[in-house]
Parts: sequence; C-alpha cells; structure tokens
Amino acid sequence: MKSKEIAKQARKLAEPFCITKGKEFRLKDIDPNDTLWLKDEDKPKATEALSTGVDALSHYQEMLYADDKRSLLLIFQAMDAAGKDGAIKHVLSGVNPQGCDVHSFKTPTSEDLDHDYLWRSMKVLPNRGRIGIFNRSYYEEVLVVRVHPAFLEKQKLPPELVTRHIWQERFEDIRNFEQYLTRNGTVVLKFFLHLSKKEQKRRFMERLEDPDKHWKFSSSDMAERAFWDQYMEAYEDMIQHTATPNAPWYVVPADNKWFTRVVVAAAIIQALSGLDLKFPKVDKPKLKELAAAKAVLEKK
Ligand code: ATP
Ligand code: MG
Repeated sequence: MKSKEIAKQARKLAEPFCITKGKEFRLKDIDPNDTLWLKDEDKPKATEALSTGVDALSHYQEMLYADDKRSLLLIFQAMDAAGKDGAIKHVLSGVNPQGCDVHSFKTPTSEDLDHDYLWRSMKVLPNRGRIGIFNRSYYEEVLVVRVHPAFLEKQKLPPELVTRHIWQERFEDIRNFEQYLTRNGTVVLKFFLHLSKKEQKRRFMERLEDPDKHWKFSSSDMAERAFWDQYMEAYEDMIQHTATPNAPWYVVPADNKWFTRVVVAAAIIQALSGLDLKFPKVDKPKLKELAAAKAVLEKK
C-alpha cells in the first residue's frame, strides 16, 4: 500500500476517536465495544492492517530520527487491564528500539515528592528525533490523586496552595506545559484506552482462572475497581479540560484489543504523516565525498 493510502485509512480509523476540543466531550458518547465498520470476522484483516501500520511507523520513525527536529510524546492512560502494555508492545513492535524510550510512572518516590509534580516527567522527555512513551503519566495527578486525596496530602504542598481550585489549576498548568512542548517541536498525543467495567471483570476473571495469567493479577487493581465511577468522572473532566488541537486525546474503545491496537497505530500514523517528514538532502560537497568513496570501493 502506498503511504498516501495508508495515511487516508489511518485518518478514517483514528478521527472518530480524536478529541481536540474537550468542552462538549462526554465519555458516554464513546462505546468501549465500538469497532466502527469492522466486525469480529474482520479481525484477520485488522491484524494485517496493523502489520502494514507497524511497517509504516517504522519508516516514519526513521525519518523523525534523521530529521532530528521534532520528537513524539505518546501518553497512555487507562484503568487496569485495559491493555496499555499490549498496545505499546504491538504498535511499536516495528520501531527501532534505539529511537524509542518507554517510561512507566508508578507511585512517586520520596525524591519525586520533593519536587513539583511535572519534574519526574520533564527529566525523561524524548530527545529530538526520538519517540517517548509514557505508560501512565503526569495525568495521574488529576486521576488517582483526585480519587484518593491521601496522595495529595503526601505532596508536601504549602497548605494555602491546596484549595478547591487545585484540579482546575492543574488542568491549566498541564495545558500550558503541553503547549510549551508543542512550541518546541514535540508532538504530543494522548490515549485513553476506554474499557467497560464489564470487560474489566472478564479480564480479571481470566487472570484468576488461568495459571499463566496469575502473575498479572493484583489485589490493588481490585481495590481501584471499587472506585470506578469516581475514576470515570475524573477522566471525563480531565479530557474536557486538556483536549486541545495541539495535544488531542484519543478516546480509544478498549473492549476489543485488536481494535484498540489498530486505532492507536492509526492515530500515530496520522500525526506523523501530517508532519511532512523527509530524509535530509545532502549538500554538494557531501555528494562529492560520496562519489569519491564509491570510486575507491569500485576500484578495489
Ligand atoms: P501493570 O499493572 O500493567 O504493570 P500499571 O501501570 O497498572 O501497570 P502498577 O505498578 O500496577 O502499574 O501501578 C502503578 C500505580 O501507580 C497505579 O495505581 C497508579 O495510579 C499509581 N501512580 C502513578 N502515578 C501516581 C502519582 N503521581 N501519584 C500516586 N499514584 C500514582
Ligand atoms: Mg496495575
């Protein structure tokens, strides 16, 4: 498939889930079980499309690296068992590991808590030419920290700064931070893998019943499930306030893993194809140098 055709297909798959203006966004408008026009029997076709997408991504990543001006930041947020790890693994499977870094953000360390909350993310932002993947991110600061105020208490903030406006202030700071990144050549894409509570139950049961999946089960995931409604409210508010044309949220249906992966790949392809990346052209002296090297090799 030609790259123009791939970009066109990618747009068709990614656009329905791309939120660039949060104001009107309602989580209930996106069905976690949605697969657009693709049916279950189309799965093999979707897998084939994903593999075409993975090859295309590898090509774009090479150009991103050669161009050395922009970087790509991919942020993944989701409830447990939504398939973040699998999506990252499959979609980026063709990308040169040397051009890509994955960071997982867990409960902050005491060193993290000694700084502002963006500090630990800033340290690991992608270099120019590279892809940075955040498996969870600073968005946890308006999700888990909002759902469990005990985390906020541990952040050593001056008490007068912790008011009822804190979440709106964090949204504003995050928007500004992402605009700053964009203005410095980083393309920011954010993915919320939108899983239904019912499908999470099915996946947890699978982990409990299949001995090969026992290691994936954690009782803390069960504990977080009890806060499902609070998380959904926090996610909706977060998307409403931080989806912007420069740093959109993709709310990706996550009840069907094969579909999630195709949409994530499509969104990245759509963004990279829009950058008009090209391999740098070499100048005349360099062309002379290449011709001379070729002549030497041909002689021997
Ligand atoms: P997996 O379970 O697939 O390994 P995960 O991303 O769920 O991946 P865990 O180690 O299970 O990783 O969970 C990390 C935990 O750290 C999550 O519960 C998350 O909410 C929490 N966390 C991340 N950032 C923060 C933060 N800033 N403050 C408090 N908790 C956080
Ligand atoms: Mg977990």
